[in-house]
Amino acid sequence: MTKILAYKGGDYCERKYYDASTPERLAAAYLHLFRFLDKLELYEHLKVPAMYIVAPRDHPEGCQCYPCLDLPKKLKRREQGEARRIQMHGWYCEARAGSARAAEMLLLARRDYRNEEIEFVELEAV
Ligand SMILES: [Zn+2]
Repeated sequence: MTKILAYKGGDYCERKYYDASTPERLAAAYLHLFRFLDKLELYEHLKVPAMYIVAPRDHPEGCQCYPCLDLPKKLKRREQGEARRIQMHGWYCEARAGSARAAEMLLLARRDYRNEEIEFVELEAV
């Protein structure tokens, strides 16, 4: 049975299909798709290891401006997403260096994300 890795396309391009009928071809397909999505700049935020949050400077304690009020929420969001983000950043760097395994981990972890949806299709031989 022939296996196909299908990229569902999205805002930037049409659907794409890759031959995934052997482990070697699947690995090549993951790496190729990763490089393609990287060129579309879908991973820009993964190029840095952590979300950079700056607290407003010289604001008095109890300041009611929006950046001050929003800061605890931002820090909490960062804490919750941090482990996942660090992991994805690691995969991103390894995939950039040519690791098909890292490209696979990244693509599968993000397979439900907008513009990053992938699925497997099996072709029946008759
Ligand atoms: Zn303030």
